Amino acid sequence: MKNSLIIFFLAFSTFVFSQKKEMVEAFLKGNYNITIELGQKIIETEPNDFETNLMILRAYNEKSDYTNAYVYVQKCKSLMKQNWEKSWTLTESAITNFGIGNIDEARKNFNEAKQIPGTKNSEKKLKEIGLILGFDEIYNSWKIRDSKNIVFHFENKISDEEIEKIVSTRQKAFDEINTYFNSSLPKKIDFFVWNQKENYNEYLNNSLGFTKPNYCVSHNRINQTSGHEIAHNISFWKNIENIRTKFINEGIGVCFDQQKNDKLKIAKEVYKKNLLDIKEVWKNQTKLNDDILYPISGAFVEYLSNYDKNKFLKLVENQTYENAEKIYDGKIDELISEFSEKLKR
Ligand SMILES: [Zn+2]
Repeated sequence: MKNSLIIFFLAFSTFVFSQKKEMVEAFLKGNYNITIELGQKIIETEPNDFETNLMILRAYNEKSDYTNAYVYVQKCKSLMKQNWEKSWTLTESAITNFGIGNIDEARKNFNEAKQIPGTKNSEKKLKEIGLILGFDEIYNSWKIRDSKNIVFHFENKISDEEIEKIVSTRQKAFDEINTYFNSSLPKKIDFFVWNQKENYNEYLNNSLGFTKPNYCVSHNRINQTSGHEIAHNISFWKNIENIRTKFINEGIGVCFDQQKNDKLKIAKEVYKKNLLDIKEVWKNQTKLNDDILYPISGAFVEYLSNYDKNKFLKLVENQTYENAEKIYDGKIDELISEFSEKLKR
């Protein structure tokens, strides 16, 4: 990234230079709307500036706004000349196409990008998306199954019997969860099932399971609940401008995990040994052991959902405590204390 930035800074007038600096800084800070706004201003005078078009493309991809990203994929493809430009364009194009659900095109972009020497960062990103989206060659031997809303990817040693069970329970979970949320996903969920029960996965260098809802992708252990990761995907697409907090987001995963267990009872047992201040944990995003956070947040989300579904669905879109103060007309503290009392009983 650094070298290419220096090169393009040198090539422009001071005015454009400072505008582009601002745009890149906004991108690095994660302010994607500002990146796009600044980029579009620069394009008014420099319509064929590759780097500005690429920045806008990357910002739209980061926002999961793949329809708008697609316009800039086309633009970057028409402008790319040097290898680093091709490498970035094809990598981002793979993401855009995947996000829209053009999986074959995305795979083609991925394979083309692999043939081109890019920058350190573009190559790192390509490797990363290959592993997450399923284009890496480690997946060549995996079995693919398709259901109405999910494309399943099974590690090759998983038995046919297990596969049947997972396909039917996960599709059923999707139907039940989306009857509640009524979200529109841009594509089927790509649901990877690794043949492992332990958490750590060395290929992904990450703990399983996890979901990248922006791509509608979940990576799962073989022994997970049927609904948890699917709920993460579905709840995300209620509104792509969502603001998530770990307490509510994981609470959604647990509440909709489709286990027919008594979530309040489980939370009570955990709470007895770990008296915690829910408001503090939620508001300050306090780090907590997952064994404590998950059951308590799951029961809390269930409580809020039973209290008022419409208010809860608004909270799903912006999960901050501050937003809850507004949604629940200043009564969220009362609700938290009432819930905490239930946990003590
Ligand atoms: Zn989760």
